[in-house]
Amino acid sequence: MKNRVITRVAPSPTGLMHIGTARVALFNHLFTKQNDGKIILRIEDTDRERSKPEFEKNIKDGFSWLGLAFDEVWKQSERTEIYTQYLQKLLAEDLAYISQEEVKKEGDRPSVIRFRNPGQKITFQDLIHGEITFDTTELGDFVIAKDLETPIFHFANVVDDLEAGTTHIIRGDDHISNTPRQILIFKALGGPIPTYAHLPMILAPDKTKLSKRHGAWPVTEYRDEGYLKEAVLNFIVLLGWSPQSRAEIAQDGTEDIVSLDQMLKLFDLAKVQKKGAVFNLEKLNWLNREHLKRLSSTERWQKITDWLPPTKADFMKTNELMLQKITPLILERVSTLKEAQALLANGEFDYFFHQPKPSQELLRTTTHLTEIASRLSELAAEDFTAETIKNKIWDFATEKGRGEVLWPLRVALSGKEKSPDPFVLAAILGRAETLNRIKNALS
Ligand code: GLU
Repeated sequence: MKNRVITRVAPSPTGLMHIGTARVALFNHLFTKQNDGKIILRIEDTDRERSKPEFEKNIKDGFSWLGLAFDEVWKQSERTEIYTQYLQKLLAEDLAYISQEEVKKEGDRPSVIRFRNPGQKITFQDLIHGEITFDTTELGDFVIAKDLETPIFHFANVVDDLEAGTTHIIRGDDHISNTPRQILIFKALGGPIPTYAHLPMILAPDKTKLSKRHGAWPVTEYRDEGYLKEAVLNFIVLLGWSPQSRAEIAQDGTEDIVSLDQMLKLFDLAKVQKKGAVFNLEKLNWLNREHLKRLSSTERWQKITDWLPPTKADFMKTNELMLQKITPLILERVSTLKEAQALLANGEFDYFFHQPKPSQELLRTTTHLTEIASRLSELAAEDFTAETIKNKIWDFATEKGRGEVLWPLRVALSGKEKSPDPFVLAAILGRAETLNRIKNALS
């Protein structure tokens, strides 16, 4: 029988969770789910000075926002006794030794625990990079702990993978160079060596090191900027992988838009690319617009409601129906929900909620408004759609000059120089309010 797949995501809580950690987590999740395995979140907080509870919280918040759940959560600072036992075992077997260090400056530790490096060539098969060989001689007898209670990263990392029975280590390829050292420790502890898959670096569009200025924010910031988690997951999955059978995805003719379900079906760890993956915020913005479009109308309206600007939330909530109707118009103009919030805060859509007072100057002429009102009043309230409205006045507008007819109508309804076309406006406002606004503009 094959062993059950066991994976882990092992962030160090030394900073806010970045996109690279989210990608490691997503790829681990997809692979684990596909294999009906178990996934562990392991907080690697052996670096006591740099690890902070608020970063651990941020990492957990980020995962829960993305909907990435774990079967178990381990925390290295709670596992000291276990590392001590393993250190004692290595010391007893003379596979490690306490070495007296030359004290370079006052306060330095006089001794550390070093691994007795047998100095071999280590070869491993990486699922993404293929065969990798390192000569470990030059590593010398490397340090594995400061003392019996203070293991360093490599040691705690290996002990935990051994204890967890990790079968697959999926992580960033900045850890390739750590792997030989870790394999040496696995061997000394007599444990099976997991299968490795090192994910490609994430690069800035100009192939330089990725930074905040390229839009590579902490994951929770995408949430706070009003991105959908579906879009962020989609964006992340494309950092190093792309759907092979695009036709399957492109049911609606749009490549690259993948839902979590589709990822689960199509993701293939072995097909992850070796070369660096390019981060492009424009692509995320595009994906966010696409995923917003794919929400049901109720979900979209709900999102807009969640993001109402505090100054306007109360009165807009008293007119939920209007908010529901204008949701498509708002989303048409933005990439993120925060941008939608800003438009609402700026009063961009206030005219749907309050009757405007257009100036004569902006209206230019009101000559044809009486005729329009009379034509529109022939429509029943329940037939008041953009299409029927257009049909009622289009010929008249064509005859009299569209600008002459439609501009004042639009301004009468919106009070603004720029707004959606008057048919859409009138349909949203409804028969009574439309006629009311025309009357108001005429007076
Ligand atoms: N704690 C390491 C990091 O944050 C991860 C090590 C691993 O996945 O083996 O990069």
